[in-house]
Amino acid sequence: MEIEVKSQSDNEMVFIVRDAEVPFINAIRRTAMVSVPKIAIEDVNIIRNDSAMFNEVLAHRLGLTPLVSDLDALEGMSLPEDDDWDVYDNGIMFSLNEVGPKVVYSKDLISSDSKIKPVYDTIPLVKLKEGEEINIEAVAKVGYGKEHAKWMPTTVCAYKQYPEITFNEDVEIDYDCAQACPRGILKSDRRSKKIKILDIEDCAMCKSCVRASDNGYIQVGFRPNDFIFRIETDGAMPPKEVLLKACDVLGEKADKFIRFSEEGGSK
Ligand code: SF4
Repeated sequence: MEIEVKSQSDNEMVFIVRDAEVPFINAIRRTAMVSVPKIAIEDVNIIRNDSAMFNEVLAHRLGLTPLVSDLDALEGMSLPEDDDWDVYDNGIMFSLNEVGPKVVYSKDLISSDSKIKPVYDTIPLVKLKEGEEINIEAVAKVGYGKEHAKWMPTTVCAYKQYPEITFNEDVEIDYDCAQACPRGILKSDRRSKKIKILDIEDCAMCKSCVRASDNGYIQVGFRPNDFIFRIETDGAMPPKEVLLKACDVLGEKADKFIRFSEEGGSK
């Protein structure tokens, strides 16, 4: 198996995996989405809320506010499988105490731990009119995406098989197929009597080009064992860390299965 990183930033990573199987790639995808630990606000104690927003909506908004959850931030925090996870104040405490008129933003959340704070300062939480007050205490805990979307570290985690485009040289060139491509990745070159493929990795395999060609000049398929994988996060964790953690989780599960098999399946 070979892996080639095509692009990488703080929130996004695209890489190509060659010579792999669908079940393996899908296991990585699912694990990254639902089994990688992330920090999010879980308990909200609303002491005062004069705003027009219902308490439940406000609590939901706080839960979905991305908090820094990199490996450094997660260090030492209780996981849902730990006995003390449920204890109310066993987490990162946040307070929010504001008086209107103003828009309350994520930057107004005061954290008890300087490492763990909202990823972005400018997420609007609630609007307060003149004299309205909000006084909230909240606790952030580690959780998994399989329990709630707020603990899902990925906003996009998807793969597609590597596209393959071929031309039938036995029939007349059909320039219509290039015009039909919604992504503009096919370019007619009438001088050299060819259709050029500008960026095959951008092909959505929608087959609009195939349908537009009456004489079957173009065919679109894919390489069954090569994949283009894209991970995007909400900024709480870098995509590389999500991927590494997903591999760790998957490795631990495989180890458990091996031990179970070696012990004769008795436990
Ligand atoms: S399959 Fe769709 S995206 Fe790919 S080349 Fe054809 S029209 Fe363009």
